[in-house]
Amino acid sequence: MPLSADLLAVLACPSPDHAPLRLVSGGESEELECTVCASRFPVRDDIPVLLPDDAVLGPNGLGVAANAVADEPAN
Ligand SMILES: [Zn+2]
Repeated sequence: MPLSADLLAVLACPSPDHAPLRLVSGGESEELECTVCASRFPVRDDIPVLLPDDAVLGPNGLGVAANAVADEPAN
């Protein structure tokens, strides 16, 4: 059974960004992806597991915007 829209609406990234999550396909199962840092969290037995230790972190790490540019070259 898919996660309900009501539940999805109240879930947030456990990082300091506390951003909304969106449901994405994670291959065999569904995952929740942070709309800011792009970290992905598993959904096990229809229960979202919002633990940093179980997450696949986004490109810039948990809580850092995925589109943030770190250490941009000075030239
Ligand atoms: Zn996040």
